[in-house]
Amino acid sequence: MKAVVDQDTCSGCELCVETCPEVFEMQNDTAVAKVDIVPPEAEETCREAVDDCPVEAITIEE
Ligand code: SF4
Repeated sequence: MKAVVDQDTCSGCELCVETCPEVFEMQNDTAVAKVDIVPPEAEETCREAVDDCPVEAITIEE
């Protein structure tokens, strides 16, 4: 499973970084996925971050 943040859509609210720091980090004013593959133990919180993103900027590739 991979997570991708659309850099044009992300508003930089940092919610995903708070929810799932194993996968997301801030880089300048937007969030990025810092891992290529989401670790299995972080999949649940990663999906939570996707659901909670206010601008739906995160997509998951299975
Ligand atoms: S939750 Fe969405 S808008 Fe907020 S930082 Fe993460 S990707 Fe960007």
